[in-house]
Amino acid sequence: MGINQSQYLPSRVLGGLRHAATAGLDLLLPPQCPICGKLVDGMGRLCANCFGQTHFISAPFCSCCGVPFATAGEGGALALCPGCLSHPPAFRSARAALSYDEQARRLILPFKHADRTELAPVLAAMMARAGAELLAETDVLVPVPLHRTRLRHRRYNQSALLAVALARRCGRPWLADALRRQRPTPALGELGAAARAEAVAGAFTGAPGRMVFGGRKVLLIDDVMTSGATASACATALLAAGAARVDVLVAARVPDPRGG
Ligand SMILES: [Zn+2]
Ligand SMILES: [Zn+2]
Repeated sequence: MGINQSQYLPSRVLGGLRHAATAGLDLLLPPQCPICGKLVDGMGRLCANCFGQTHFISAPFCSCCGVPFATAGEGGALALCPGCLSHPPAFRSARAALSYDEQARRLILPFKHADRTELAPVLAAMMARAGAELLAETDVLVPVPLHRTRLRHRRYNQSALLAVALARRCGRPWLADALRRQRPTPALGELGAAARAEAVAGAFTGAPGRMVFGGRKVLLIDDVMTSGATASACATALLAAGAARVDVLVAARVPDPRGG
């Protein structure tokens, strides 16, 4: 692939996301690999071993949802996966930086559940590369919202942190509260694609007073995509709120949604 890790360096070393005291410490401590803690050359860089084990998604993949294909001919002339052929999502296209495997979980799970918010610019740098074409033609970034009870429990919305880091990196505006999760949705882990779509249908709405999308191209930001049901439900709400179109950029996606 010839991927150069320097492309994944955060544009601003400290990303502006850390608390000032933590930032001060960072200037004193040598930079560490965000996965294994080994000393590295620069802030936000993976060590050579972790970088080598990280599975960045590259072509061939579904031209719509971005799910990786095993071979270039898969998906036929339109390069569409069976899911997008039978049930086209509400979003135009989706791209992901990482395949959601064991190595990706070593970045995503601490970021999501263990207050490792300094990983946002690391993941955003990977997302900026995977979504360069989408970012180039996007008017505004919108994170997938958490329901307020989950936000209270977790204290931060990991998707919003990714949107902020990407917005800073790419000089695009972002809207924190454009979407609202009207009701808590069940854990989707055990559900198949159809059940996932049913579980999140109608769960999202454009926030009142935020119907500002008139003709704007929206890039929806999330941490992990599985079947695309959540992203599609969000896209439906954004289109209803006047978005011209909705694309999706996530940090990682499950390689085969039919398996999860
Ligand atoms: Zn490492
Ligand atoms: Zn697809």
